[in-house]
This record gives sequence, structure tokens and C-alpha cells, in this order.
Amino acid sequence: MDCPNCRLVNPPDAERCDCGYDFPTATRKEPYTNNDPSLSGVGGWLLFFCISLTILDPLYSVIQAIGDPRISQNGLAIVMILCIAGFSIYTGFLLRKVRPDALKVLKGYFIFLFALACIGILGSFAVSFTTDTLTAIESLATQAARLVSVAIWALYFKKSRRVRNTFGRNLF
Ligand SMILES: [Zn+2]
Repeated sequence: MDCPNCRLVNPPDAERCDCGYDFPTATRKEPYTNNDPSLSGVGGWLLFFCISLTILDPLYSVIQAIGDPRISQNGLAIVMILCIAGFSIYTGFLLRKVRPDALKVLKGYFIFLFALACIGILGSFAVSFTTDTLTAIESLATQAARLVSVAIWALYFKKSRRVRNTFGRNLF
């Protein structure tokens, strides 16, 4: 039978896939074959990423919003920040709990952040460089930093052995 988690073809009587998917309970468990148990489970950079998504990033956004009247007095901006924070917390929670759909949701989250940063970069160019150069450059730098951050984390989830051992596969 095909593993619903990693698509590996297993013998019909298999109880658990190599990736750790447990057929009788239909949940992710510890794989039976694990050559490096120290690089498995939510720890290291993976744990740091989960903490960032569930606590640090949302907290930072809220603090930034409170300190910036252009955001705190703009209803649409507040709704946007709350939506992003919700998406971030939800994704971090799925990863932390090693849910089978966590990487799928994470991919959506990365694409979402990537699109936001691209829109932000276009927005930066809408701010006039001649009349408000500092704001324009500041905004451009912030969005560029976000793009780089998404790229680095996407690469981590593509390459990390811990991610593969924990989720049975990498991001892509
Ligand atoms: Zn599997």
C-alpha cells in the first residue's frame, strides 16, 4: 500500500512506513529505521523555527504595530497583521506537533510570505525616492530581508536531515 505521508510503496501487511507513518492508527510515529536518532524530532533549528513562528514573529509584529501610528491607526493593516500572525502561529503549531500536513501548510506559508514581500517591494517603489528617500530605502531593505529569510528557511526545510527524519520527507 502507498504511504499517505511520503508515497513510499509498502508491503500490504506493513505496520509502519520508513518515514514513521503508522498505518493502524494513521498517525506519524517514530520511524523504526532511524540511523541518527539525535537528528530527529522537533529540536535544534527546527525547534527555533517553531518558536519563531508561534511566539517571536507574532510578538514582534504586534510590538511594531503598536509603536507605529501608520499601522495602529489603520484598520486594514491591523487585520492584515492579525491574519499573518494567525497563519504563522497555526503553521508553527502543526510543525511542533509533527502533523502529517505540516509541510504542506508550511509551503503555503512560505509562498504567502514570498508574495507579501514582492508586493512590499513594489510598494516601496511607489514611495517616492526623491521626496522620501529614507522611508523608501528603509521599506525596500525590510522587504528584501524578508525575502532572504524565507529563502534561507525554505532551503533549510529542503536540505535538513532533521526535517527528513522527523516528517519523513523534506519540503520539496
Ligand atoms: Zn511513509
